[in-house]
Amino acid sequence: MKQGEKGTCAYIIEEGQVEIVIEKPGGKIQPVGTRGPGTIIGEMAIVDEGLRTATVKAIKDCKVLEITHDDFAQRLKTSDPVIQMISQIILMRYRDTLTRAEILGQSVSYPPPEALERNFAAQTDVVESVKIANDLKAAIENKTLMLHYQPIIDLAKGAVTGFEALMRWKHPERGFISPAVFIPIAEKSGLIVDASKWALEEACGALKRIELSVRSKTALSMSVNFSSHDFAESDFVEGIMKTIGKAGVDPKQINLEITERLLIHQPDNAKDTLAACRKEGITVAIDDFGTGYSSLSYLYYFPIDTMKIDQSFVRAMFREDRSLELVKSIIGLGQNMGLTCVAEGVENAEEARLLCDLGCEQAQGYHFAKPMAEQDVIKALQGWKTPQYLSA
Ligand code: C2E
Ligand code: CA
Ligand code: CA
Repeated sequence: MKQGEKGTCAYIIEEGQVEIVIEKPGGKIQPVGTRGPGTIIGEMAIVDEGLRTATVKAIKDCKVLEITHDDFAQRLKTSDPVIQMISQIILMRYRDTLTRAEILGQSVSYPPPEALERNFAAQTDVVESVKIANDLKAAIENKTLMLHYQPIIDLAKGAVTGFEALMRWKHPERGFISPAVFIPIAEKSGLIVDASKWALEEACGALKRIELSVRSKTALSMSVNFSSHDFAESDFVEGIMKTIGKAGVDPKQINLEITERLLIHQPDNAKDTLAACRKEGITVAIDDFGTGYSSLSYLYYFPIDTMKIDQSFVRAMFREDRSLELVKSIIGLGQNMGLTCVAEGVENAEEARLLCDLGCEQAQGYHFAKPMAEQDVIKALQGWKTPQYLSA
């Protein structure tokens, strides 16, 4: 690896040793030091494919792992915009310092870091995501988030069996912001952990109040969405059990919704956490089933009670034979494995009828009810009529 060359990859040293030297303008050689196993060399170039700032020579036989610029660029592209901005600006500042100190020589010049900073600041997604994260933090602290509840229907009976709690945020200036926008920001910034704790507490309270108001003869269920960050908390199960207990809700009424992604990224942690939840009586649902990873082995591996068929398949059922076949297969899979199937995004009577005929046990969607505030849920339940697909 030679100073002044274009860099396209970095190396992690697994074995051996290297020496790093910098050639200063005028030819003076300045040793920087040596590096051994576990260290990384050439890391600056993979951020921007700039010129090597030092020469590296092996002084003992080396075994190295290569990280290419393309690989790093791909990882950076999918990372948080704030991390993208800061990692590139720090590199530019460092290169600028080296150039000013004439360590890199006059021939090597880099754009001033200020230009890069202005460029990043002009990219609205960085500014937007920082602003939204700050405002969201305040909303969580001030408890100005809200929950709406969407009824989940027993398809054969046409009756409400429970609800899914869905977060709502009315921003003081921007109005309602979709959870599809603020949940990923809450996840990336770690704010989701406090938001989820609040949501469970609020949903348990609402479940008690709804049951009391509608004098439900059978216990209703409450599904709450959790993310991988929640699972990373060491006292996750203890925390949720405390909240459920304090609200006086039977753990059997609480259903924990998680996505396939979470299971794949934290398999061991997730398995233990889910097993501990189920031991306490809480049920577990896989959300957006069929959209994550194709491996079905996790259905055997993880303790799961329910599969939620993603709304994209339900939507396409009447349009494409393939989607219909997929829905049939998921329902069959659920039946064979003793799992409950919930179809999401049911928007009309035809879809409800077909899903019921296919043996899907439960469904939710605009055809039955939209997500509603607690008071509206109570009114809807008090005036609940058998849905049209059963009476037709
Ligand atoms: P999800 O968990 O898959 O929730 C279902 C989404 O489908 C909700 O969108 C719901 O309003 C919408 N929906 C329900 N029925 C229909 C229908 O018939 N047609 C159509 N087109 N849509 C329907 P929403 O409330 O905008 O939430 C979007 C996503 O945000 C959720 O998807 C979930 O991934 C996330 N989310 C919402 N609340 C929470 C939360 O409290 N915690 C976490 N971790 N994620 C949440
Ligand atoms: Ca969900
Ligand atoms: Ca879903």
